[in-house]
Amino acid sequence: MLTEGLSIGKAFGIPLRLHYSWFIIFVLITWSLTAGYFSVTHPHWSLAASIAAGVVTSLLFFGSVLAHELMHSLVAQAAGIPIQSITLFIFGGVSQMVEEPKQPQVEFRMALAGPLTSLALGGIFLAIWYWLGGIPGFIREISLLLGEINIVLAVFNLIPGFPLDGGRVLRSILWWQSRNLRKATRIASNIGRGIGYLMIIAGIALVFTGNWINGLWLAFIGWFLESAAASSYRQLALQDILKGHKANELMTQDCPVIEPELTIQQLVNEQILTSGRRCFPVVQQNHVLGLITIHDIKAIPRDKWPIKTVREAMTPLAKLKSVGPDEDLSTVLRILTEQNINQLPVIKDGKIVGLIARDNLLSFISIRSELGA
Ligand SMILES: [Zn+2]
Repeated sequence: MLTEGLSIGKAFGIPLRLHYSWFIIFVLITWSLTAGYFSVTHPHWSLAASIAAGVVTSLLFFGSVLAHELMHSLVAQAAGIPIQSITLFIFGGVSQMVEEPKQPQVEFRMALAGPLTSLALGGIFLAIWYWLGGIPGFIREISLLLGEINIVLAVFNLIPGFPLDGGRVLRSILWWQSRNLRKATRIASNIGRGIGYLMIIAGIALVFTGNWINGLWLAFIGWFLESAAASSYRQLALQDILKGHKANELMTQDCPVIEPELTIQQLVNEQILTSGRRCFPVVQQNHVLGLITIHDIKAIPRDKWPIKTVREAMTPLAKLKSVGPDEDLSTVLRILTEQNINQLPVIKDGKIVGLIARDNLLSFISIRSELGA
């Protein structure tokens, strides 16, 4: 979801992005700082001054969030984990890691780096506010607010519910002790879901006491936390089930091949309706040309079936996603999901040696998770 967005440059070699949803929160925060804070606490300021203070504070706030994410990423990179990008979005910032840390110690340091950065920034802004004590004004007011915001940011992120930073710290400690990543993630993400539900309840309570903007916002963040916690656990459990299993364990090898010059009508009558198969490699003189699926056939109007050939309707080899027989099943699942396809050909030395159907992979997963194997 967060891979698209506006590129705003690089820091330490890491691409920085603004997700489209970020613009909503930027406008909301700038507006509430201007209209709800500065023009209330400083009614003698001109409108231009209030707006300027709102924009500057908002930009420095997102700069602070970026610094927080950047520290997570730099610690990760130092531990050998490549970072694809950092994206700011409606709920804050996120560092896209290519892989999860392999040791609990690394996760512990990585998770703590962000909140410590926010605490340090909070301290710096409060120090500026303090040193400028004698002269009440623009910079002093902004510093006070940013100091407070950064400390709130640090404290919020240290809540021990996965996938918040505090939840990652908790998971790394549990993982360290038990040597069981899946169990540690289950506990930390259940706490994350519990905290998410509490925030939703507290948010609804606020709505009923008339504070409906803050209430809705809190409930919204709670909902986001709950679903992020649930899906991170599901994903990890999936990876765990698929770990060590290869494509050749699951592929069907008896793929009936068909000729490219067959018409769609012939294919439907002679093969699909009689065999119930949904997917056929198209082969000519031992040479794989492509793959034709029910999906491809449905795209052709029924009255064209007697004249269109398989060659015209198939997905050609060049456009086909495929894997080798030794590919990990977790990669297979990722490709099926990302490409939104139902079958993946397994190709070795230019020949289709098998097919993996999404159904087979899903039943492989569900049987293993039911048996806890
Ligand atoms: Zn963080």
